[in-house]
Amino acid sequence: MYKGIAGSEGIGIGKVVIVKEQEVVIPNERVDDTDAELKKLQEAINVFVAKTEAMAEGMEKTVGKKDADILRGHIQMLQDPSIEEQITALILSTNISATMAVDQVLEQTAQLFEQIPDELLQQRATDFRDIKLRMTKILLGIEDVDISNCPKNTILVASDLTPSMTALINPENIAGILTEVGGRTSHSAILARAMEIPAVLSIENICELVKDGELVVLDGTTGEAEVSPSEDTVKEYEEKYKKFMEEKAMLKEFAGKPTVTKDGVKLELVCNIGKPKDIKKVIECDGEGVGLFRTEFLFMDRDEMPTEQEQFEAYKEVAQAMKGKPVIIRTLDIGGDKDIPYMKMEPEDNPFMGFRAIRYCLENTDLYKVQLRALLRASAFGNVKIMVPLVTCVDELRQVKVLVKDLMKELDAEGIEYNKNIPIGVMMETSAACLMADALAKEAAFFSIGTNDLTGYTMAVDRGNAKVAYLYSTYNPAVLRAIKMIIEAGKKEGIMVGMCGEAAADTKLIPLLLSFGLDEFSVSATSVLKTRKTIAGSDINECDKLADSVMECVTESEVVEKLKEV
Ligand code: PEP
Ligand code: MG
Repeated sequence: MYKGIAGSEGIGIGKVVIVKEQEVVIPNERVDDTDAELKKLQEAINVFVAKTEAMAEGMEKTVGKKDADILRGHIQMLQDPSIEEQITALILSTNISATMAVDQVLEQTAQLFEQIPDELLQQRATDFRDIKLRMTKILLGIEDVDISNCPKNTILVASDLTPSMTALINPENIAGILTEVGGRTSHSAILARAMEIPAVLSIENICELVKDGELVVLDGTTGEAEVSPSEDTVKEYEEKYKKFMEEKAMLKEFAGKPTVTKDGVKLELVCNIGKPKDIKKVIECDGEGVGLFRTEFLFMDRDEMPTEQEQFEAYKEVAQAMKGKPVIIRTLDIGGDKDIPYMKMEPEDNPFMGFRAIRYCLENTDLYKVQLRALLRASAFGNVKIMVPLVTCVDELRQVKVLVKDLMKELDAEGIEYNKNIPIGVMMETSAACLMADALAKEAAFFSIGTNDLTGYTMAVDRGNAKVAYLYSTYNPAVLRAIKMIIEAGKKEGIMVGMCGEAAADTKLIPLLLSFGLDEFSVSATSVLKTRKTIAGSDINECDKLADSVMECVTESEVVEKLKEV
């Protein structure tokens, strides 16, 4: 039995598909039979077209037509007569292999696009490099797993599952996920939970320990997995699966009810989303709005920046679907574990502490203004609020406000409607923001506590590093004090304080958060009913007593013990 981090609850039983990026080395070879190379080239192009079309069809169902069409565009780019002519001419004139010729011509084309001053055209370079990689893999016979087309009951096994890989998954076919790295709050874990796929993370060398097609059972609640289990173990897991599904069904009685404590305190219970299509689940699960729209996911799985119009349509779709309920849209939070290749961010030694989120946006205001304009325009269609991520200084909030004001003038001049009083809030997720919470509360319309990062920055721990995972705990008294300080500072200024980090759905922490005075819980759609049930079973007086005794604890283990008693 292997033990890892419980990344996403549920029981998975299925067959392994290993997802591995294979290295491509182009052999430097000359050929005598150029006709044979030309034939190979034609065959590879046919395979490329067929595979790309199949991938696009799969993507159309899971991610949407727009993203699928980007892939289809690759077929046209490869079949451009001038590209094919150049590759053919190079094979005939220099007697190099089809693989080398494809590699050279597509690389040169990518470099040409890179030199064009127009940003949109520059992004074609990424497309040509992508086509080059896939074509050379076909010519070398390197098979990649197509995640979007895995058979039913697949257990995906990968070193890490990047957010963009996760976006390609068809949840109906994936019974579970095992990875070698990643913690509970890594984005792959968050997405796995959103898709209700059980996941066990950080099992050392798991890619080497399993073979494709092997049977695996896993428990995403305890973080356990077993490879080639005995018949008895499979039966045991089938039982566990049944029980898990029954418990889930029982939560349905909390659907359609208000979110209120035993003693009548009403709370807001909203959801975290990554794309407009996630709204369907928010409505299905009875979420009361959106507490965190992670907009960076709109920028992923594509080859170029979404335009203002595309962003506007996405934000408007969510705002309208929520029919006046709050929709907090967080501005672009790239960096850390969220990379967007076409943005060409420089590699950094310490990306979680580096040039990310609001820091990046305030240096790249052209890009940021596009997003803010789209957000302002969408504010005419619902209860949209803007949230600024990774704030460490009051100046950052002020700078965003100045940009928003300038854009409002622009929109006024153009006669475009928007909400003139759009609330601009701060994501409280750094120690600096916590220490400056009193000052920030005077200038922010609301706070939302991002415990995923706040825990990491308070404890000086990388949230995806398995070696120091023992320190990454929201139960640590330092983190609990930070949370309490932020809520108190917000309450003192009379602003709403919410929480959109994963801790908001932690049933053990909810009584403490209620005692601290948290107003809003933003959780994944799949956690709405469980969170409502926990809140319904809580009484503020009892929560206060618990909080008094927990806040006296000075070690994490004392806190864990106290919370166990509840
Ligand atoms: C957080 O940091 O708690 C948060 C919700 O944001 P993200 O997980 O996207 O960094
Ligand atoms: Mg964060």
